[in-house]
Amino acid sequence: MTALCPNCGHIPIRVPPTHKCPECGVFSHEWMIYDWESYASSRRQHLKCNILIIIMVVINIVALVTFESSNVFFWMLNVLSIPATISLFLCLNDLRGQAEYEGHHSRAALPWFAGFSGF
Ligand SMILES: [Zn+2]
Repeated sequence: MTALCPNCGHIPIRVPPTHKCPECGVFSHEWMIYDWESYASSRRQHLKCNILIIIMVVINIVALVTFESSNVFFWMLNVLSIPATISLFLCLNDLRGQAEYEGHHSRAALPWFAGFSGF
């Protein structure tokens, strides 16, 4: 996994242990990862998760309407389709953008719903 200096764009094999760029000498905590394949595979993974969430929401809506449910919790679940749809389009956009790819942050590997896992 190659890294990318956020200051000068130098691409060493990996992040220097000192976090100091051998090219421009700038110290940074914000080293980017420069690996399109790993970035694209994490994007494809998120894409699948988002599609799965959207399918679940559709099934949920059909079930709620069919059974005329008034369960607030299940109605609230439908709200998940909003971030899932936004994320879906962002992922598609990212996957098309190989030409503009300029490295990514390690946190880009986390999907939007990773924040919910804390609950
Ligand atoms: Zn540098």
